[in-house]
Amino acid sequence: MKQESEYTYNEPTTAEIYSRQYVLKNIFLYIACAYAVYLCLTSVIWRSLSNKKKISFEKSKEMCLTKNMEQVDESINKEPTIAEPYKREYIMKNIIFFIYSYIGGLYGLYLGFTSATWGTIIFTLISYFLTILGLTAGAHRLFSHKSFKATKPLQVFLMLCHSLAYQRTLVTWVRDHRLHHKFSDTDADPHNISRGFFFSHLGWLLVKNHPEMVKRREMVDMSDVYGNEVVMFQKRHAQWLLPLFGIIIPTTIPWVLGDNFSNSWHLNIFRYMVTSNLTFLTNSLLHSWGYKPYDKTVSACQNLPLIVMTMGEGFHNYHHAFPWDYRTGELGNNSLNYITKVIDGFEKVGLAFDLKTASEGVVEERKRRTGDGKDLWGRENKEVRLRSKL
Ligand SMILES: [Zn+2]
Ligand SMILES: [Zn+2]
Repeated sequence: MKQESEYTYNEPTTAEIYSRQYVLKNIFLYIACAYAVYLCLTSVIWRSLSNKKKISFEKSKEMCLTKNMEQVDESINKEPTIAEPYKREYIMKNIIFFIYSYIGGLYGLYLGFTSATWGTIIFTLISYFLTILGLTAGAHRLFSHKSFKATKPLQVFLMLCHSLAYQRTLVTWVRDHRLHHKFSDTDADPHNISRGFFFSHLGWLLVKNHPEMVKRREMVDMSDVYGNEVVMFQKRHAQWLLPLFGIIIPTTIPWVLGDNFSNSWHLNIFRYMVTSNLTFLTNSLLHSWGYKPYDKTVSACQNLPLIVMTMGEGFHNYHHAFPWDYRTGELGNNSLNYITKVIDGFEKVGLAFDLKTASEGVVEERKRRTGDGKDLWGRENKEVRLRSKL
């Protein structure tokens, strides 16, 4: 006679499965709500401390506007470049923020494959493109490098796209980026690659600034930024403008269009996670792995996968050689440099003008003089090799 096992496995009922999924979904929702409360609280605390920040901001604005930049450049050359002693101090607020962004972002990816509506997925892709546009065409090529000029409506549009990125204000972004170009690979470089891959990727945002960076940032010319009313509007209203465009609007739109709150919230966190990490990869990966067709003496290099994902920002060795070129790449109008194509489109409709480019002759000369003998895509360029030997 067949004996029944002592330990029988009972298939969970449909109601039990649904209740487990319900609990799992709600855990993430509770974390999301707790995180939103945490953001509000830190914003209030920040506001109560803003008097102190305001004084230092006004002071640095005054310094930048009144300093003769030639004298500043002289003082940079004369001062010793030995780094001051550095004591690592963690910023807990940022550590919690980024840990959550990875957990919430990965859960958003899971929801994207399992339960998000097509409307939410398409909206996430559109907001991804607008974020990249705000970061690359706006914060980077327009406001940091002044590689082209833009009409006021285009400046406002790019400032709002940058707010969508939720990567601090344009003033901070531009100042840090100018420091990066001026003092690349030194302690004054905010994401100095010589302090390691992780530091240049994310670590620099988790610890207090190096004293050398604090000292040198007063020497960066920010007069154009402080004189730009669009950028200053974002700076003055950052407390509500950044959460509104970075969190509230991109979460509310798919929610209003019919998806549930959890999908809308977590796919927006996923968008933030991807776009912020693409920016970070430009600081880490593009300063450690790739080829250097234009200047082999710098750490900046080029990398094909990043060229594709950042829609044209991956030509980083070219960009460090010619930072004022609006294309940030030699063949700026090729099919992988979408942001350049978009800027060209802005020019055609009269929104962008005075687009700066390096001439073919200047680029060739630079390649011959300081390049590593590779071509734009990292292939061996025999012609350049032969000419550099002559
Ligand atoms: Zn760089
Ligand atoms: Zn740059």
